[in-house]
Amino acid sequence: MDTRALRNPYQDYDGNPASTMALFDSQGKLTLEFSQRLTGKISELLAVMENGLMSADPRDCTGYTGWAGIALLYLHLHKVLGDGLLLQKALEHVSRSLKCLTRRHDVTFLCGDAGPLAVAAVVFYRLQRVQESEECINRLLQLYPSVVEGSGGLPDEMLYGRMGYLYALVFINQQMGQDRIPLQYIQQISNAVLVSGENQSRKFRVQNQSPLMYEWYQEPYVGAAHGLAGIYYFLMQPGFVQSEDLVLRLVKPSVDHVCRLKFPTGNYPPCIGDDRDLLVHWCHGAPGVIYMLLQAHKAFGEARYLIDALQCGEVVWHYGLLKKGYGLCHGAAGNAYAFLALYRHTHDPKHLYRACLFADWCMNYGRHGCRTPDTPYSLFEGMAGTIYFLTDLLQPLKSRFPAFEV
Ligand SMILES: [Zn+2]
Repeated sequence: MDTRALRNPYQDYDGNPASTMALFDSQGKLTLEFSQRLTGKISELLAVMENGLMSADPRDCTGYTGWAGIALLYLHLHKVLGDGLLLQKALEHVSRSLKCLTRRHDVTFLCGDAGPLAVAAVVFYRLQRVQESEECINRLLQLYPSVVEGSGGLPDEMLYGRMGYLYALVFINQQMGQDRIPLQYIQQISNAVLVSGENQSRKFRVQNQSPLMYEWYQEPYVGAAHGLAGIYYFLMQPGFVQSEDLVLRLVKPSVDHVCRLKFPTGNYPPCIGDDRDLLVHWCHGAPGVIYMLLQAHKAFGEARYLIDALQCGEVVWHYGLLKKGYGLCHGAAGNAYAFLALYRHTHDPKHLYRACLFADWCMNYGRHGCRTPDTPYSLFEGMAGTIYFLTDLLQPLKSRFPAFEV
């Protein structure tokens, strides 16, 4: 892990209120000085990003590397900062995205057409352009039958599979009211994911260890983006799986199978059977698995899940400042969301302190000799994701890893 990260230069939390005073108060409210530093940096990075986007791929519609991701950032900035011009920016970017939907008609929020359509529905909704918003939702729901059926060998994971479509429906409900998309839609997709997982568990002959199993490109991935942890995170959300009995009988023992994959360091492998303890990314490793563990702790109440999640926090603190840069998918900003999740779950100031210091690292963008990603200004690889994180830190208790956390 240490070959992929830069040494964490910060002093860890020592429990002394004096060491956090410059960052936040005893209620976890950020100091005026630190908030102002964040907002100043947000504006500065936004200007750099806008300039950089002039040379971005004009035909990439996606949330992950394309225009829907930039629109999602502006939608978030509008929500937190409340400036109407930011909503206009979201409209401008999502309109570009809608003009170049994926030719293969991929179905997910991050890598397919569901993201542009869902983001556009919310932008139009906020602009009170009701009819256009409804139209986008209708187009989004047109993809629904093929997702449930799984035509064309559709996988189940977040980036290209069923869960990535399910997230688009969840996003609509989060932004436009809980019943906008009826729960039955979400339950039917979850059900299809369970059936698929049982089949794959039989195929891999692991029924006795893990009643569910999933693969992507013939590999049983573990992490949040392509793997088991991301899928189980959604299957444990209240009400997503119709019967509590199925959660206990199928999901819980499968979560425990992931728990058994933990390395001695507290990190997790990218794939089952891969024993190289190298990657500390949201996409592969502890910074993504942590969401499954915290959700398991909420759902089943057993302390061991929280203990493993806290260990993920330690891994991220020591090995999370990546040479790959400052992005969400495999960068410092995405890793810092693990601290925000721990802070919301435990209210222990230690985790907020750590998130603030990772933000400090991100505010020194480009000064650590990190690699430049292929799409340097995008939401999931580049600067837009870093800005999203800095904005979320302004209201830590409301923060959510974009395009993923419910
Ligand atoms: Zn990644």
